[in-house]
Amino acid sequence: MDAQTSGHDGTAGRYARQMLLRGFGVEGQSRLASSHAMIIGAGALGCPAADLLVRAGVGRVSLVDRDVVELSNLQRQTLFDERDARERAPKAEAAARRLRSVNSGVRVEPIVEHFSPENAERLLRPHPRPGVVLDCTDNFATRYLINDVCVKVGVPLVYAGAVASSGVAMTIVPKSVPNAGERATACLRCVFPEPPASAPTCDTAGIFAPVSSIVASVQASEAIKVLLGRLDLLSNTLLSMDLWTNERRRISLSDARREDCPCCGRGEFEFLAGRGSQDARTMCGRGAVQVAGHAPVDLRALAARLRSVAEVHQSEDHLTATLDVTSGKGGAGAGEGARDGVSRFELTVFADGRAIVGGTTDPGIARSVYARFIGL
Ligand SMILES: [Zn+2]
Repeated sequence: MDAQTSGHDGTAGRYARQMLLRGFGVEGQSRLASSHAMIIGAGALGCPAADLLVRAGVGRVSLVDRDVVELSNLQRQTLFDERDARERAPKAEAAARRLRSVNSGVRVEPIVEHFSPENAERLLRPHPRPGVVLDCTDNFATRYLINDVCVKVGVPLVYAGAVASSGVAMTIVPKSVPNAGERATACLRCVFPEPPASAPTCDTAGIFAPVSSIVASVQASEAIKVLLGRLDLLSNTLLSMDLWTNERRRISLSDARREDCPCCGRGEFEFLAGRGSQDARTMCGRGAVQVAGHAPVDLRALAARLRSVAEVHQSEDHLTATLDVTSGKGGAGAGEGARDGVSRFELTVFADGRAIVGGTTDPGIARSVYARFIGL
């Protein structure tokens, strides 16, 4: 037994109620303490899922998120508070702060990056690689990318999604997972070969917080079973529910694996090769566009440049600036949509060169603001 299972700083018995459960005990708890979960997306799903895994004593939890906290997140993103929103704190870091205060025995790793074809394998391949990945993202390009990399690298994946009052969850055990054997399941592309051309988002349809909380709990439960090595207990279904109409469905995935699946059947990892990734994309629920950076930015120098035209707040890893752009001077549509000739943009720039342009949902306008004020 190590420090986590025996308790430390007078916290002996922290896991007592969990260790009473069938399948846990000292051995299961010890197994969790030496395991690693990677959560991609620290939003409506990632917050409750991370909270459950950290409280359960999973030894290492990595949180990958590119975004900053906003007031409109607080309705459902349970790890954040008003101060985080005021400071526009990076979500991964704000979540890590909160999680460490809940359980200091867990190694919580915030990764303030956009999960992309460029970094996906690097993030998943360290030794030892994560024992499970939780897909807590909100867009299809990233979901298919996560499916690709988990199948390629051989890591179990718990997929979930929530929009409006409905949610889905599905656990994927790729056949490339070393101990999968006959427990290997279909992958995302076996069930949904292509991403939808368009789908409702939390921007257009809203999101009912209880549904994201429930599907995140299902994710955490499935992830814990994976980490305990109990692949026999996984649901092997596509679970879907609507909490407004009270409909629930379970579709068996027993016969869903397809030999001709491009991903797990033929080993063609199109999304990992860059399909679906864009240099500028509209962000769900934010009224903002993320523009990918091409090169790291010297934040201090940029802050100095922007101070002549904007109110700037700079920290070690990002800066925020409020920009008033006059239509006539905005260049390439930067002033579009402005009724009084002035558009206001909230610009958040990260050290890796990535930026979030708030105040527009038009990727073209966002690219223009990026080019004009960051100059790359
Ligand atoms: Zn497949």
